[in-house]
Amino acid sequence: MKTLPEVRTVRHFINGEFVDGTAGRTFESLNPATNSPIAVVAEGTAEDVDRAVQTARKAFDAGPWPRMSPADRARALQRIADGIDRRVEEIALVECLDTGIPYTQIRQGQIPRAAENFRFFAEMATRVPHEAFPVEGAFVNYIQRVPAGVAGLITPWNTPFMLETWKVAPCLAAGCTAVLKPAEWSPLSAALLAELIREADLPPGVFNVVQGFGETAGAPLVAHPLVNLISFTGETVTGQEIMRNGAATLKRYSMELGGKSPVIVFPDADLDRALDATIFGQYTLNGERCTANSRLLVDRRIHDEFVGRLVERVARLRVGVPLDPATEIGPLIHPEHWERVARYIALGQEEGARLVTGGRRPAQLPVGNYLEPAVFTGVSNAMRIAQEEIFGPVLVVIPFETEEDAVCLANDVRYGLAAYLWTGDVARGHRVAQALEAGMVWVNSQNVRDLRTPFGGMKHSGIGREGGRYSFDFYQEYKTIHIALGTHRIPKLGSGEKARETDFQGLDG
Ligand code: NAD
Repeated sequence: MKTLPEVRTVRHFINGEFVDGTAGRTFESLNPATNSPIAVVAEGTAEDVDRAVQTARKAFDAGPWPRMSPADRARALQRIADGIDRRVEEIALVECLDTGIPYTQIRQGQIPRAAENFRFFAEMATRVPHEAFPVEGAFVNYIQRVPAGVAGLITPWNTPFMLETWKVAPCLAAGCTAVLKPAEWSPLSAALLAELIREADLPPGVFNVVQGFGETAGAPLVAHPLVNLISFTGETVTGQEIMRNGAATLKRYSMELGGKSPVIVFPDADLDRALDATIFGQYTLNGERCTANSRLLVDRRIHDEFVGRLVERVARLRVGVPLDPATEIGPLIHPEHWERVARYIALGQEEGARLVTGGRRPAQLPVGNYLEPAVFTGVSNAMRIAQEEIFGPVLVVIPFETEEDAVCLANDVRYGLAAYLWTGDVARGHRVAQALEAGMVWVNSQNVRDLRTPFGGMKHSGIGREGGRYSFDFYQEYKTIHIALGTHRIPKLGSGEKARETDFQGLDG
């Protein structure tokens, strides 16, 4: 494993070069395990964003990238994936130090998945289905897919490297050029991605990174008139703000927003597996996971036994330094986020719920953003801890009486990202899955994803889907090309010839 310099310098990446910000301002990125600075980062401004967008625009309008064959672009993306594989230990270490997510989860899960994102979308680029419509032997219409333009990619701090590649890979595979604005609390791995893309020899300007804060670097990217589309992952309120700010320049949006996903456990389920999955789904990635099953809905008849076993296991989760392979929960990303989660722990108690385990700073870890994983019981669905996204290692438990009741509770929330359900009854599995208001439902399964399937949420969890060909639907425009195969009749207006009865049939707008 490589050792890192004490404090890194992180710069923007514009037109194939690492550059300082025009204003020369910087900010610090903290190690969540110690809250000491690990990087000094260029703080992007509207001028930096403009520089990056202008270069991405030039690369799109006049450069080779959008004009290359998908197979040639795919080869370049495969080189990026190879680079990730070669530097996997280093990327995992940097990501671990920057986010506090346990190293094992990053090394085994997130970084290999980032390489997989590039490989998958590289291959997908050469296989996107193209449609043609023969029209009564007289015409043929076919659909050309063309890259949609310059994309602004705005990402959050949870699993930053994986989520950045989740956007960058399809965006580039589709032939777009990009400006990435990573989250200010986790800027480091985006700089590594820029290095990897430079090493993979992509034309300059195709991929750019502007570091900085949402209001001063994200907002100018959204408002920039030369940016055509915005793919955003983050909080719902930020998504709303972005849509307002992009309205004047008519952006196309993909919005992957917040969640408060239920896991429903019926008494006929394999309860051991349901228990394992509930804990895994809520407490991996420090609970800072958009698809976390943060609301446990459990049949009242098995409530006490199931919750008893759950609480025992959660109390034994190993909170510790993220580099320790035995650690199951690391420190939360930032002291401000720790405060926010801690406020929800206090709020839950004020609302009358019972905090049955965790919720405090572990005594043996006085420094860093550590929090014991928490479980609330006696929760009613109307409480704020049941309705609002906490985005930390906190699970709320709500009993239900009947299947209808369970569906009602599951859907009675403004979010609709993911849902999980456990039952031994196949018919019930389908019935409930179909009744749930969620973009993705897992039955008797933890969150296992196939990259071909659409990812995204309903309601306040998002707009649009990415993944598989759905990503290409976003990053490409459809152009319909109509070809006449013969000499169909065209009415001769103004010639004095009398119109035929059928001349104006099908006259369209
Ligand atoms: P956030 O909304 O605070 O920030 C996300 C990004 O938006 C950051 O890069 C930030 O700098 C930028 N930003 C903030 N204000 C902006 C503005 N006005 N204009 C442009 N950009 C702006 O989110 P976060 O706290 O970084 O991430 C946690 C959130 O992300 C949670 O709500 C979580 O559910 C969500 N999330 C969703 C998914 C999904 O796929 N649905 C995946 C991961 C995380």
